[in-house]
Amino acid sequence: MHVDIVPVGDLPAVVKREASSGLRSVYDCEVTIHDGQPIPDGAYDADREQYRAEEFIELAGRTGSGEKNIAITAHDLYYRRRNYVFGLAYLSGNGSVISTYRLQTSSDGGFSERPAGDIFADRVRKEVVHEIGHTLGLEHCDNNRCVMNFSPTVREVDVKEENLCGSCQRLVL
Ligand SMILES: [Zn+2]
Ligand SMILES: [Zn+2]
Repeated sequence: MHVDIVPVGDLPAVVKREASSGLRSVYDCEVTIHDGQPIPDGAYDADREQYRAEEFIELAGRTGSGEKNIAITAHDLYYRRRNYVFGLAYLSGNGSVISTYRLQTSSDGGFSERPAGDIFADRVRKEVVHEIGHTLGLEHCDNNRCVMNFSPTVREVDVKEENLCGSCQRLVL
């Protein structure tokens, strides 16, 4: 499998590096980093001061050169009625997205205390592995250690590991 990472807007090198390394280690896939893309027209919702995740998924699918493509942005994303999302993918689609914006939250929910670099890096790795898992057809997993566990806050992200559990592995690897 070939996964193309599509950076959207300014994105620190460390994010591209960790995302790429997480995907390679879990899926044993080829990973390329696409040229950076501008934020898609019409993605910004001025009332919410957030961006629509769907537009980034569409951009990843349209510009990415991989069988699976993941947009990565530092901007805050939302989807439908959810206040925010760390990431989004359609089941078995070829596009997906993650946002690093809220992965910088400290585990008590505040922004004041920035998490140590390796905690942030681990979250980035887990979220890209999670969204690519959805594009491979995996749904959420009840095992809270599994990377496919639903993690609406950084607390759950920090509990899970970056790997697929045995049952999820059997479905895709
Ligand atoms: Zn999910
Ligand atoms: Zn699992």
